[in-house]
Amino acid sequence: MPCTKLLYQEQGSLHQHDASIVGIEALPTPEDATKSEQPANSHVLYLDETIFHVQGGGQPFDVGTIRPSPDSVNGNDATSHTKNQSEFHVTSVRNGEANTVRHAGYFVPATTDQPFQPKTKVHLSIDVPRRQLHSRIHSAGHILGVAIMRLSRAGTLPPLTETKAKHYPGDASVEFQGLIDGKFKDAIQQATDELVAEGRPLHIRFWSREECEKNGVALPEKIDGDMFRAVEIEGCGAYACGGTHVSKTDEVGRVVVRSIRRQKGGTRVGYFVEEK
Ligand SMILES: [Zn+2]
Repeated sequence: MPCTKLLYQEQGSLHQHDASIVGIEALPTPEDATKSEQPANSHVLYLDETIFHVQGGGQPFDVGTIRPSPDSVNGNDATSHTKNQSEFHVTSVRNGEANTVRHAGYFVPATTDQPFQPKTKVHLSIDVPRRQLHSRIHSAGHILGVAIMRLSRAGTLPPLTETKAKHYPGDASVEFQGLIDGKFKDAIQQATDELVAEGRPLHIRFWSREECEKNGVALPEKIDGDMFRAVEIEGCGAYACGGTHVSKTDEVGRVVVRSIRRQKGGTRVGYFVEEK
C-alpha cells in the first residue's frame, strides 16, 4: 500500500480536497449488529493524500465525508455512476502500517459492495467546527506551556522541563518535570491571558536537526529524518509538533487554567478553552 501524504501538516486550513483511493478493506460484520457501534457496512479507505488529522500527538482525529468527486460521477460508465452515489462517513482516522492512514467508516446508503474502487477520484470534506475546536485546544496547550516556562525563567516558578501534553476536549493538560505549587495558579492564568491577548502569530516550520536545536526544540531520542515539523509561537519558543493550529494566539479564545496536580516529582496543569 503506498504511504499517505499528510496534507494538513503543510496546509492546515485545507478543509476540502480531491484525492484518490489507493485501497479499500471491508471490516467484518459484527455478529450482532444491533449491539455493535460498528455498522454492518464498515470499511477502511486508504488514500494517496489526506486532509483528515490522524489521531496522535495529543490531538484527536478529524471526522467528515468522502464522496466521489464530480469528475468520476460524470464519467460515461453508467454502472459506476449508479454505484458512486454512495457517500462514506469517516468515523475514525488512525495510523496504519508503513505510513498509511486508515480512514474507517461506513457507506450511506448502506451497501456491502465496494463502491469506491482503487483509483476512484474522491472529494474529502472534514467537519470544520470540530477541527477548529481541536486546533484551538492544541494551540492553547502550547501557549500555556510557553507561559509557564516564561515564569520559570523569570524565577517566579522553579526550574521546569516540559515533558508531555494532551489536547482533548474535556481532557487537556501540559506536564512538567519539577513541582509547581498550587498558589501560582493565578500567576499562570495571568501569564497565559497576556500571551493570548498579544495575538502573536503561530508559524509552522520545517527545520533541520541543527535548526531545531538552535530554536530549543527537543526532538525524541529515536527519530529518523532530516527535516522536522515544529510550531513556533513568534518570539516565545517552539515545539516539535504534528498537529493543527490557529494562526494567532488570540484566536484560541479564553484559556482557563483548571488544575495544578503534583505527583512523583512532576506537575500536570489542566486547562480548557472557553466556548467562543
Ligand atoms: Zn503540538
